[in-house]
Amino acid sequence: HARRDKNVATLVERSLVLVKPDGVKRALTGAIIDRIERKGMRVIAMDLRSLPRELVEEHYAEHQGKPFFEPLVSFMLSGPVVAMVIEGHRCIEAFRTLSGATDPVKAAPGTIRGDLATDVGTTVVQNLVHGSDSPASAEREIKLFFPDLA
Ligand code: GDP
Ligand code: MG
Repeated sequence: HARRDKNVATLVERSLVLVKPDGVKRALTGAIIDRIERKGMRVIAMDLRSLPRELVEEHYAEHQGKPFFEPLVSFMLSGPVVAMVIEGHRCIEAFRTLSGATDPVKAAPGTIRGDLATDVGTTVVQNLVHGSDSPASAEREIKLFFPDLA
């Protein structure tokens, strides 16, 4: 298998993380933050808020036109989210690994989704968290949610 190179320079990144409405409703915000912090990543901005529709549509623009787009937007408007910016070495990939697969049935045990999310058979997959999927997405999403962050 591929071995990670030694002596890779520190690459401090930022990522946008959302505790989605299912996570807030189930009072899992603390558990999710606990996992982020125990993994060695830091929360550098955080806010509980109800999102305007335009922000959700912009955030998920890549999914416009897909069958789950409208259910996804409605779900994200169904209650407040906890939006945060996390920071750490390779934290974009690290948080995606910690989250697990999009489908909570397939997400590995040990991950946030694998341990805490269940397929509840709704038209949109309720999987507790969002995390930026690349440096470009992280930059775009952080600007969208935290425009005043330095
Ligand atoms: P993520 O980056 O793992 O959150 O997944 P995506 O960016 O591909 O999708 C965004 C969100 O849309 C997911 O987290 C799910 O809530 C939902 N979603 C994605 N794919 C599907 C799908 O095939 N069917 C349904 N019903 N919902 C989906
Ligand atoms: Mg995504």
